[in-house]
Amino acid sequence: MNWKKIIKDKENQPAVGTYSDWKEQIAKECFYQCIYCSINEAQFGGIDHYHIEHYKPKSIERFKILENDICNLFYSCPICNRFKSYDWPNDADDLDIICYPDPSTYDYSDLFVVNSLDYKVYGTYVSTKYMTERLYLNRPQLLYERRESFLKQREENVTKALEVLQDKINNPEDFTLLKESLSGIIQLNKTLQKRSSIRPYKLAEIRK
Ligand SMILES: [Zn+2]
Repeated sequence: MNWKKIIKDKENQPAVGTYSDWKEQIAKECFYQCIYCSINEAQFGGIDHYHIEHYKPKSIERFKILENDICNLFYSCPICNRFKSYDWPNDADDLDIICYPDPSTYDYSDLFVVNSLDYKVYGTYVSTKYMTERLYLNRPQLLYERRESFLKQREENVTKALEVLQDKINNPEDFTLLKESLSGIIQLNKTLQKRSSIRPYKLAEIRK
């Protein structure tokens, strides 16, 4: 998972227009990816499919004032956006209570762990456990994308190991290296074989 802390600065408040005019700027500030699930817009239909996320929901009366406040505007995929909707369990920004940690205060990478075997994310705080459930951060589409990025990393590691092996192949006594490289290739191949076992978009999962 590739979460990043979002830098927000009042100085970047656009002088004209309203939030829907600032999508390009907001996308850039958020690294062109969903602040919650970290899926990149390129993997999910591009900027047209992405939403401007009012972190403090504009439908809650006391947050109406933040409707066009650049510091309250983020970028999210349509699915996370729909799941979060106007949910706002708590004003306090405390990791150990049920709330949404502010993505411009925290780097979400520090608040979740990702299991490299089942590709699921686990919140390490009360707040991020809640987020994981509420936003379905282990929906099949995300497991699929995470597995692809793990595979990419593993492919790179195997390639590197093969290159090292190629250099050392003249030394037949170096069996440890040979064993490690072969085991990497076998593991990669097994993961590749499972590639089709996830259907990224199950309607029942995303229409709860
Ligand atoms: Zn998302």
